[in-house]
Amino acid sequence: MFGLMQDRPLLIQQLIEHAAQYHGDTEIVSRRVEGDIHRYTYRDARVRAKKVAEALVSLGIKTGDRIGTLAWNGYRHFELYFGISGIGAVCHTINPRLFPEQIVYIVNHAEDQLLFVDINLLPAVEKLLPEFKTVKHVVAMCDRAHLPKDLKIPNLLVYEELIADKPGTYEWPEFDERTASSLCYTSGTTGNPKGVLYSHRSTMLHAYGSALPDTLGLSARSVVLPVVPMFHVNAWGLPYSGPMVGAKLVFPGPHLDGKSVYELFETEKVTFTAGVPTVWLALLNHMQANKLKLSTLKYAVIGGSAAPPAMITTFAKEYGVEVLHAWGMSEMSPLGTVNHPKEKHLSLPEDELLALRLKQGRPPFGVDMKIVDDAGKALPHDGKAFGDLLVRGPWITRGYFKGEGGDPLKDGGWFPTGDVATIDPDGYMQITDRSKDVIKSGGEWISSIDLENAAMAHPAVAEAAVIGVAHPKWDERPLLIIHRKPGAEVTKDELVKFLSDKVAKWWLPDDVQFVDAIPHTATGKILKTRLREDFKNYKLPTA
Ligand code: AMP
Repeated sequence: MFGLMQDRPLLIQQLIEHAAQYHGDTEIVSRRVEGDIHRYTYRDARVRAKKVAEALVSLGIKTGDRIGTLAWNGYRHFELYFGISGIGAVCHTINPRLFPEQIVYIVNHAEDQLLFVDINLLPAVEKLLPEFKTVKHVVAMCDRAHLPKDLKIPNLLVYEELIADKPGTYEWPEFDERTASSLCYTSGTTGNPKGVLYSHRSTMLHAYGSALPDTLGLSARSVVLPVVPMFHVNAWGLPYSGPMVGAKLVFPGPHLDGKSVYELFETEKVTFTAGVPTVWLALLNHMQANKLKLSTLKYAVIGGSAAPPAMITTFAKEYGVEVLHAWGMSEMSPLGTVNHPKEKHLSLPEDELLALRLKQGRPPFGVDMKIVDDAGKALPHDGKAFGDLLVRGPWITRGYFKGEGGDPLKDGGWFPTGDVATIDPDGYMQITDRSKDVIKSGGEWISSIDLENAAMAHPAVAEAAVIGVAHPKWDERPLLIIHRKPGAEVTKDELVKFLSDKVAKWWLPDDVQFVDAIPHTATGKILKTRLREDFKNYKLPTA
């Protein structure tokens, strides 16, 4: 017997309708690529999203067509999220920081019909245009007055002109909630990028799950500034969970340096933000150098890479900001876990509470996790055993776009994350490594992340990376690679001594190398493949 409740499908366009209806005068503020600040409301955004939908239909775009965006966080990108998905087409967000060949590959693989491009990215697109096989029009995300001169882009359209004469009264169609809504290629460090294809249903369930109090805990009183880009896993879902709860949104545009982000925090009274550790490093440096304080910010989500302990304490002690350490991946829409201490943890001694906050957190309802050994046998959730982390749930991928890479699922429906983790009896998961990065010394695993975290706590260290280097006796031993803070001094011996009471003795790096910069991927993660390449022939002093 079926229940007798309505089967109304969960569709993304309902979010903008809800926000416009019940939070109509709540603001969306954007620092534009044009340089100024733009503000309007959810009510305005709804009309313009409908105009986008009408424009797409008039250009012949149909259900299932892929529409590419190369754009920063801003109101037009927000309108595209709803306008494109709302007609049943697929919003394909592209990371402009990828190598040109990767962008060409992705656009052609997705078979993008249109490309919506922010004006400062148009020159790059102009160069690549001859290699795009399916793109019929490039749409410049500006008005005529701001269009860069001398562009040689055939069939170029201008966003504001495209939507100007549309009525903005579009009736969103109702369709199956499993319809594809958006597409994001993962920033794999090897091989071709693979497309993760989200659906309306997965996106909506992810928005519900991420708004929960112990997940991101958003509400109509929140002022949310996603530093994490809208081209990277939909800005961690914030452009959906924001309108779901009626939060004010603040979009920072292309400039994510400490000064620009700080200014927006203060002028817009931001309470909640989210981004990768690299941007927070820039913000903290800016605030420290200029003796600035934060007056409204309460929560900073740190994800994408492990949150360094010094960052968690600095945010809390100097700025009164609670760090929510979070973990996820493109294949998980992206939210997997968020770290909120339970009541019993709040009375822990400071160092124990910090140790807890370093864990990546607990999953919201909707994400199931398990860890397994090399043979696929489930390991205990005792906080000690570590193994390959597998996940399942309604906002987790079951396969890549066009079947790339075959069926990724294991063991009857579990997605292998490629991360190695522990899970403790309270449900907190802690990443110890990427499975490819884990260092195997004498058959035992050494966690490169633990070592990096420990090294990052040294006051002279700006950034630390640990890789395994070949060793005749132990197979692999850790090499610590350090980028020092400007003007700071620290020697190899001082660093090893500093680490000696923080990690097991046999984990201590066999050598330390100092570099001018640590390479990063297009999404801000340490590019370990490059480091391994750079130090391929490196001979450890112990070898
Ligand atoms: P992406 O799909 O590009 O978002 O990358 C996902 C991967 O980033 C995960 O599988 C992890 O390896 C890594 N990652 C994300 N968040 C964290 C975190 N809080 N701590 C450590 N690694 C993380």
